[in-house]
Amino acid sequence: MISGYNTPMEWKDQDVLRYSRNILLREIGPEGQEKLFSSSALVVGAGGLGSPALLYLAAAGVGRIGVIDGDRVDLSNLNRQTIHAETSVGRSKAESAGASLRAFRSDLEVDVHDTALTAGNALDLFRRYSVVIDGSDNFPTKYLCSDASVLTGVPLIHAGVLRYGGQILPVVPPRGPCLRCLLPEIPPRKDAPTCSEAGILGASAGVVGSWQAVEAVKLLLGIGEPAAGRMLLVIDTIAPSVTTHPVEKDPNCPACGISPRILPPLSPARYSLDRSCAL
Ligand SMILES: [Zn+2]
Repeated sequence: MISGYNTPMEWKDQDVLRYSRNILLREIGPEGQEKLFSSSALVVGAGGLGSPALLYLAAAGVGRIGVIDGDRVDLSNLNRQTIHAETSVGRSKAESAGASLRAFRSDLEVDVHDTALTAGNALDLFRRYSVVIDGSDNFPTKYLCSDASVLTGVPLIHAGVLRYGGQILPVVPPRGPCLRCLLPEIPPRKDAPTCSEAGILGASAGVVGSWQAVEAVKLLLGIGEPAAGRMLLVIDTIAPSVTTHPVEKDPNCPACGISPRILPPLSPARYSLDRSCAL
């Protein structure tokens, strides 16, 4: 028992101890912890955003976590992608992240998807999870995540980072806006430099990825201020500031509007990496 709370009989003593700081939080308690145990999350991209998001979701007690990434660990990733070790350079990012998660929490169910998220697999994958975190590094995949969230009804925590900051938009269909309500089409490559062109401070990506994990836990538990579905959060770590901007659902949105044009099956050409940029 943890000061004033009765934990379920079937919990192991080590669970009570491991999650005691969660359970002490009035908004979580044993019931909330049970919800986390029985929930699942998919993290798209085991990179600068995915590293903290994956570890904090595992730390929170989420029962099953999927990680999807088709890339391999590169030495240049290690200024921010802290779920990987030097010994993982050259290895599949999904497998490396899966191994780190299992070492961190032995009872965690981990789904390793060593492949890219595509128009062909996104809908099926999204439907297997309670919530999805977008930790991808390019706009086509970010738009694919947003569209898959709208079409499956599975909530998504969208984010992007560059230099010293980033932005977060929780997408909670059908009530909230999606990424296309902000920008209907994938921006042209010239308007959006990549992290490999403009740089990114690793800790800044860590702040944004950690915040995504917070929003995912809030969504899973139904607690806190509902930033989800109506607010764009802009985080600047060098100024520093955190600002929120209301985002309205656009009735003309091609994905979640009154007459959507983006319908299953999704067209691979729409998400081609060649026609756009990377964030
Ligand atoms: Zn929309």
